[in-house]
Amino acid sequence: MPELPEVETIRRQLAQHLAGRTIAGARVLDPLLVDPEDPRAFEQRLAGRVVREIRRTGKYLFIEFDDGEALALHLRMTGQLLWTPGEPDAPTPYARAVLGMDDGSVVTFADPRRFGRAWFLPAGRSARRRAWGARTGVDAMSSGFTARRLGASLDGRTAAIKALILDQRIVAGVGNIYADEALFRARVHPRRPGGSLTQAEVRRLHRAIRDRLRMGISVGGASFDRYRDAHGGRGGMQDLFLVHRRQGEPCPRCRTTIEKGVVAQRGTYWCPRCQPQEVQVQAAC
Ligand SMILES: [Zn+2]
Repeated sequence: MPELPEVETIRRQLAQHLAGRTIAGARVLDPLLVDPEDPRAFEQRLAGRVVREIRRTGKYLFIEFDDGEALALHLRMTGQLLWTPGEPDAPTPYARAVLGMDDGSVVTFADPRRFGRAWFLPAGRSARRRAWGARTGVDAMSSGFTARRLGASLDGRTAAIKALILDQRIVAGVGNIYADEALFRARVHPRRPGGSLTQAEVRRLHRAIRDRLRMGISVGGASFDRYRDAHGGRGGMQDLFLVHRRQGEPCPRCRTTIEKGVVAQRGTYWCPRCQPQEVQVQAAC
């Protein structure tokens, strides 16, 4: 599933191609993509729109139009946004929608598992906020995501720390890959109750989340599965995983064998020595 670095990679590529361009025409091939909207009405609403910029919050992309409205896109499990300078030579497998731009270039939304979604967002700050609701909290790469804010969100929580940092309302953009990698870097076991982290651990985790996401962006995301960027290219982060998908291999820090289990219903990887589950608590005398 594309996480923040993968979606940010696509955002940067699409921004180069689409900013200032007009949508000449749109085709919705799979009505489920725009459900409950009528596909034909959706196509008419898109035609003639001028793209101002492409924005991102967490794992969501927004094609912002010059009249203030936006097209929101969520790639979910297997969604891809592919840009081609003209009509693709061969039909794109699993294409669900196509945008034709005024320069002849084409953006195709492809998605084999069909969990991805597209919908309109209204103009105006308060209307936008109402329409968006509580889908996401603060973006993990924004200045608003601070160690203090993370600590406040974890305070008193008994849920596993991994489940909490996967919660998009606590921090938007972190998914299964970058959660494992950040928890390893912070030396925090994924099953630790969120509220049990010390201030120093919260600071380490905050730093580790930013560090791993920044690394992911710098190499164009992770492509061990279906993820491809807007040019159909692969990212390089899968070659830099520290623990994720490395069960049975030696820990890069201490050489202990990396373990795998299920935390927050997700396959989870950690080093049992660097990330102890039972934390030594000083007994009060
Ligand atoms: Zn280790």
